[in-house]
Amino acid sequence: MEYLAAKKLREEWGDKPCDHPAIEKEYYADTHTLDYVCVQCGEEFTVLEMLEAKENFRKSKKGRKVLLSSH
Ligand SMILES: [Zn+2]
Repeated sequence: MEYLAAKKLREEWGDKPCDHPAIEKEYYADTHTLDYVCVQCGEEFTVLEMLEAKENFRKSKKGRKVLLSSH
């Protein structure tokens, strides 16, 4: 997603909560900014934050049953 498009998304999304279901690379012109951005709310992530958000989203999708059985 384009940096400016992400910025616009953030302004439109405001303070609503978002579970960041889809995260893309962020570009400025044709160059990857090395950051990632949520296509729903426009929030920016570093690579590490992006991986963490994806992991959290995956866990929240699977639910408690899987968490318990992993022990
Ligand atoms: Zn989001």
